[in-house]
Amino acid sequence: MGIRTGVRYRKGLQDGRAVYANGERVPDVTQYPPFGGIIGTLAGLYDAQHDPRHTETMTYLCPSGDRVSTTLMPARTIEEMQARVRCDYLRTDLTYGVMGRIPDFVNAFLLDAAGSLEFMGKTDALAKLTDYLDLLRDLDLASTHALIDPQSDRSRADTPMEAVQIVAESAEGVTVRGARMLSTLAPVADEILIGPFLPRQPGEERYAVSFAVPADTPGLKIVCREPYDTGAPAFDRPLTSRFEEGDAVLVFDDVLVPRDRLFIAGDVDAYNGMVAHFPGFTGLQASIRGAAKLRFLTGLAAVVARANGRHRSARHQEEIGELVAHIGVAEGLIQGAALDCANRIQARAGLRPPPGPGQPGGNMPVGLTAIMVFFPQVLTRAVEVVRMVAGSGVIAMTEQDLHHPELTGLLDSLMHGPDFPAERRLQVMRMAWDATGGQFGSRQALYERLYAGDPVGNRVRFFGMPRRSECEEMVERLLDS
Ligand SMILES: Cc1cc2nc3c(=O)[nH]c(=O)nc-3n(C[C@H](O)[C@H](O)[C@H](O)COP(=O)(O)OP(=O)(O)OC[C@H]3O[C@@H](n4cnc5c(N)ncnc54)[C@H](O)[C@@H]3O)c2cc1C
Repeated sequence: MGIRTGVRYRKGLQDGRAVYANGERVPDVTQYPPFGGIIGTLAGLYDAQHDPRHTETMTYLCPSGDRVSTTLMPARTIEEMQARVRCDYLRTDLTYGVMGRIPDFVNAFLLDAAGSLEFMGKTDALAKLTDYLDLLRDLDLASTHALIDPQSDRSRADTPMEAVQIVAESAEGVTVRGARMLSTLAPVADEILIGPFLPRQPGEERYAVSFAVPADTPGLKIVCREPYDTGAPAFDRPLTSRFEEGDAVLVFDDVLVPRDRLFIAGDVDAYNGMVAHFPGFTGLQASIRGAAKLRFLTGLAAVVARANGRHRSARHQEEIGELVAHIGVAEGLIQGAALDCANRIQARAGLRPPPGPGQPGGNMPVGLTAIMVFFPQVLTRAVEVVRMVAGSGVIAMTEQDLHHPELTGLLDSLMHGPDFPAERRLQVMRMAWDATGGQFGSRQALYERLYAGDPVGNRVRFFGMPRRSECEEMVERLLDS
């Protein structure tokens, strides 16, 4: 069928899914005002695929002759990888990098998972996942995922009994029960992937389960966190009103997963190896998204600085300059991640040697390293810079106050910036607050920290990597010389 329009995406959401928000069951997510902004944004991305300016970048011709999304292109060569980079760049640029779970992320995750299953020789699982990728591509569906178990007791390393697990098997498939947290975009996605992240232990086979189901699957309850879009106009909430993705706890209340959508059931090795052997699509897409957000926050800091004259102070020039430098590093990381992903795929096909000591990535794809350590740091720093540059300017009135008949002339003359009329200055400050403070901004800050899992655990993993031993050997060499 090929690429959809925004209208078809909206229609697909009217499926009777069990979404709960603010204490009520939402009968139709397309008519629920807090989801209106994000549905409009995603519909806009679907429509953009048909825009002659973007079609070549956002889509490609698949062997069936249909135009399909480049986000699902199983790139093998560096040229194909660059086509993916251009597409991800455009889509994250159109969404200012603030959509952490733009569906492109899960598309990349699934391509990575297929690469892992192929590498491990898990042919049955690979065949099902390949068919599923074809389905997503042909129907142009929007996917999201949930990888993390409920926070029942984080002092324990084993899987909590509340986690999604297999409770029954039949010829049709398996029945699963339990919860996953969190799933960003779940209320407005077509498909939900339950995938692996933290390893399962031997004996935890019933929890070693990976599958994908439509959002309207009977027994699946999508329980949203408090929605942040309360109808404030775009002037006051430019990001919340467009990019409030929504996060939800997923409750599987005895859900039947048919065999063809059940990728892994009880195979602990396959479950644990799925993420461990990623060739690198996920990290590449997520790095491009992180770089778009970094560019946006850097631009925001610079515009805020112009709005209050801080652009003339050396201190703030230094801070914004630091962010500009990080963008250069991020762009280099993206190119490195694209090359690294292509090299890994070609190495697995026997076309080149695998990356070894001194080569980019080592045993961790470049893009994953970037999203586990680099981007959480620089995006946190970028928020800090916006805050330092803006000062108290972000604690601001609404657009309505500015236009109140008793205030408007006064405020126009008192609240301007250098070469910035009062209204423009206020608009910039409202954007800065939405991006870094308020509910949307606070959630974004937490999300960037936890985007690729627990950052503390991630760094400990890097401590255990061969790269550290290589560095130690370098020192030993000099000591022994
Ligand atoms: C807004 C948002 C959206 C999300 N969306 C998704 C999604 O779409 N899909 C998905 O699968 N997951 C999602 N997540 C979940 C995310 O993957 C997890 O938050 C992340 O893996 C960390 O797990 P946790 O929240 O359970 O934290 P925990 O593992 O419970 O850790 C709690 C805190 O303790 C810290 N910590 C842990 N160990 C130590 C230590 N030894 N010393 C000091 N501090 C420590 C951690 O860094 C963390 O800050 C989302 C999270 C957020 C906040």
